[in-house]
Amino acid sequence: MDFAGKVVLVTGGTRGIGLETVKLFAKNKAQVVLFGSKEETVKQALSKLQAENIEVEGYYPNLCNSNEVREVITKIKEKYGHIDVLINNAGISANKKIEDTSLEDFQKIMDINVTGMFNMCKEVVPIMKEQNGGVILNTSSMVSIYGQPSGVGYPASKFAVNGLTKSLARELAPFNIRVNAVAPGIIKTDMVASLPEEMIKPLVATIPLGRIGEPQDIANAFLFLASDMASYITGVILQVDGNAHN
Ligand code: NAD
Repeated sequence: MDFAGKVVLVTGGTRGIGLETVKLFAKNKAQVVLFGSKEETVKQALSKLQAENIEVEGYYPNLCNSNEVREVITKIKEKYGHIDVLINNAGISANKKIEDTSLEDFQKIMDINVTGMFNMCKEVVPIMKEQNGGVILNTSSMVSIYGQPSGVGYPASKFAVNGLTKSLARELAPFNIRVNAVAPGIIKTDMVASLPEEMIKPLVATIPLGRIGEPQDIANAFLFLASDMASYITGVILQVDGNAHN
């Protein structure tokens, strides 16, 4: 795949699935711009990438603040003149029972996982319309298919991600903008490492492909969906989960 001359934005690009995605697009010659939540973690990610001879730019706007997002997107547009691929990957999870979940907990997860995505799309879409094309990819989750037994805010937010994906796909198709999501299963990242072992083990036991996914599995799906090989695919929630069942 050749992404030479393409500008690719990746939110949540400082670690896990996002960082692997940044690396894969950069290796395929894209100009990648990563977004993280803090200056410190963005700097760490950039120096990790530099050590692998990967040069990317990094920003850390509050994705829930529309003014901060607008400012950064304007800067990127001024610098490169175009934005070809937007990968909305930043996200947080939850696993508390509903009785232990405060309204603030619920609102926080909806804000980061859904409102942040909305803010990014709102700023990037006019640029993609003006250039008559682009690709938007969102990170959903297997919980948007199956739900999960606790932490209701997380699946609620990912069902919303699917809704946003399918609706924007229809709204933006006339402008040659494709919108798809990838719904990862259990992937070996910090987010999963923080879950209790008793939650992970029974899940793995039920995965037909018999293993936890790697960040690379998800990055590969993003690369395919962003490429011209997927030029007739829009509005899809692509499950990359070893056909997880739980
Ligand atoms: P991670 O915790 O390793 O990385 C999360 C990323 O999101 C980080 O780069 C972080 O900077 C960013 N982020 C978190 N809060 C933010 C905030 N307030 N503002 C801006 N950025 C913020 O997690 P991951 O597993 O790589 O998750 C990436 C995406 O994949 C998430 O959307 C997650 O819901 C989804 N996902 C992960 C799994 C899994 O098993 N790891 C499964 C399904 C879906």
